[in-house]
Amino acid sequence: MRTPFLPFSRPTISEDEIAAVADVLRSGWITTGKKSVEFEEKFAARCRAEAAVALSSATGGMHLLLKALGIGPGDEVITPSMTWVSTINLIKLAGATPVFADVDRDSLMVTAETVESKISACTRLIIPVHFAGAALDLDALNLLAQKYGIALVEDAAHAIGTEYRGEPVGTCGTSVFSFHPIKNITTGEGGMICSDNVELIAHIRRLKFHGLGVDAWDRSQQGRSPQAEVLEPGYKYNLTDICATLGLGQLARLDEFNAARTCLAERYHELLAGIDELSPLRRPEEFGYAMRHAWHLFIVRLDTDRAGMSRDDFMARLKEKNIGTGLHFRAAHTQRYYRESMPGVAGTLPNTEWNSDRILSLPLFPDMTEDDQDDVLTAIKEVLK
Ligand SMILES: *Cc1c(COP(=O)(O)O)cnc(C)c1O
Repeated sequence: MRTPFLPFSRPTISEDEIAAVADVLRSGWITTGKKSVEFEEKFAARCRAEAAVALSSATGGMHLLLKALGIGPGDEVITPSMTWVSTINLIKLAGATPVFADVDRDSLMVTAETVESKISACTRLIIPVHFAGAALDLDALNLLAQKYGIALVEDAAHAIGTEYRGEPVGTCGTSVFSFHPIKNITTGEGGMICSDNVELIAHIRRLKFHGLGVDAWDRSQQGRSPQAEVLEPGYKYNLTDICATLGLGQLARLDEFNAARTCLAERYHELLAGIDELSPLRRPEEFGYAMRHAWHLFIVRLDTDRAGMSRDDFMARLKEKNIGTGLHFRAAHTQRYYRESMPGVAGTLPNTEWNSDRILSLPLFPDMTEDDQDDVLTAIKEVLK
């Protein structure tokens, strides 16, 4: 059996990045400062975004967006149930109602059709998810949002480096990125909002730091004016320079990381071709529009009838063979709080539920070797035998 345990994801952090973080620790300025400003500028340039604001997490960013867009009681927000629970929790906590659009069975992404079928007079916002590193069909979704006059925010947590029709995700509209350790680049914890709406970004910048009229760090002041006063009650979601410094090193290697992920993903497709029990998601060339896939995750669906075991058992058996896997995601509406508080949803999202019972994420990270990948395949074949 393979040793040691192969995790499904592991961050790739260089000695140079560690040294740069150590320099910040010695510098006398460790919270939000010039490194955070530089990270915002370089990330915005990379996404060709008008403006960007760095945050302590994508979840914090989504919280601020709901606040800035004035989402509250009586409002409906359309999003997939096949997403990370943070979005659904925040909609709930804002006093609004999450309304779930079903996903395409083979991309795990909502479509203009599934979203349109959920639009009502109360719909105020749509939050689709670029899933696993693939790009949403943004033209169709933006057209729909414009037609009904509804705001749209892209959950781009999986889409650092993803391109849609030749443009990076983040160039147009408003997107939220995550730098959690499993994401394509990491700051330990962190997030970024990119937008072509500079007033929205200015509002988010204020809300992320106590609602003060100034940022956490001002370039001209080399710090923050102690006289700054509250313009509206705000939160505390700024990114530290410790984190931003790691982010700068990671961002410089994004292309290298995503190239390594792409090689492994293509090799997975070849290696899995003969395994009838597992079906990958739709490949980037099968979408009908041009995209660059960031290969955040490599997801397969287990044919539970053919395999004669549940997805959870399959994951447990792989773990016994020292192969880690992930679950992205168990549909939000099947989790206890939402099952009990929204009982009417069960059974109404066939593609979401079908996938929720069958998906798992195979190991995929830039430092993974072909030998590691061969170990994954060996373990899969043994478990399915
Ligand atoms: C990781 C993730 C988030 C949350 O990101 P954090 O930075 O951990 O708050 C949101 N949505 C999706 C789809 C994610 O995968």
